[in-house]
Amino acid sequence: MQQTSGTTAAVRALGANGGSSTDAVDTTETLERKCVVCQSTEEVRVFSANCERLCVPCFVERFERSFRYAVQRWSMLSHGERVAVALSGGPASLALLELLHGLRRGFAHHKGKIRPKHFEIVVFHVIVPAGYGGNGASGAAALQALVQERYGLTVHTVDEALFLARADALEMSTRDPMATNHQLDVLDPTIAPALVAGIVNALLERMAEAYECKKLFLGTTVTRAAIITIARVATGNPLRLDAEIGVDYHSSTAGCQGSAYASSGPLRWLRPLRNISLRDVIRYLRARGCTAWITPAEPWAQENIESTAERFIWRALETRPATSFSVVHSIERALNLSAD
Ligand SMILES: [Zn+2]
Repeated sequence: MQQTSGTTAAVRALGANGGSSTDAVDTTETLERKCVVCQSTEEVRVFSANCERLCVPCFVERFERSFRYAVQRWSMLSHGERVAVALSGGPASLALLELLHGLRRGFAHHKGKIRPKHFEIVVFHVIVPAGYGGNGASGAAALQALVQERYGLTVHTVDEALFLARADALEMSTRDPMATNHQLDVLDPTIAPALVAGIVNALLERMAEAYECKKLFLGTTVTRAAIITIARVATGNPLRLDAEIGVDYHSSTAGCQGSAYASSGPLRWLRPLRNISLRDVIRYLRARGCTAWITPAEPWAQENIESTAERFIWRALETRPATSFSVVHSIERALNLSAD
């Protein structure tokens, strides 16, 4: 009890300091800055993954380099293999697809700094019903059209019925899945995305098996990691961040016991964007001309948790520059300590 209220107070304090979510996300961008690479002063912002001040073209180059580094460092791709990409339709998963597609084409706009990788991309989309914060079948259709047009790829969907069957198995009410959260305060809706993520990931795992994919790419960002961290601590179920998104970053098994992301078996869950903030992901998509991404209808994420998590990361980066991953790690430790 003390744990929950302490964390809530801490997050409320952050929220109160941050103003509106839009303003808060932009607070680090108002200072006059020069790009550390080309000295340009135009649209220079801090890149969350390494705290460099970068203009848009240099940011895109660093962003893709950061992605390529993760892919190579953790041997995420092998020649000739078939990999799955989990596409929610949110910015992070679309950025992930853009990056993987670019890698396959050798990042042509960078004059072949990396050799083209030959691998097959299979795109999965679990249709999340509107009652569970998703966009339902119509959202899936829009996503399919977008992916087909831009990448020439087919989106393999998992039907809503399978999601609902799984939800029923978890004894969640299909009539009002969020009912238990309605009377609770701002943090508690994070329980809902954690449950939804658990269902989605279980279904993704079945899909990967059916399509004989040994690797599944997820667009988990540091913002998402912060959300999960806040949710875990707030619900009295703190997990180590590395257990949540780090362990299965490079190991062959997921091994996140007790987590919404728990899984077993030979499938590798890969999260090459885990050190990058959602804001940077959106900035990258804009720079690449992918402005038509579909934002999942998640009111808890749009107005509360996501913006809080972004403020978390950017305030911490401002006061103590580090990678955003280590910032979230520090925050998590601090929250756990303050809760004791
Ligand atoms: Zn520059």
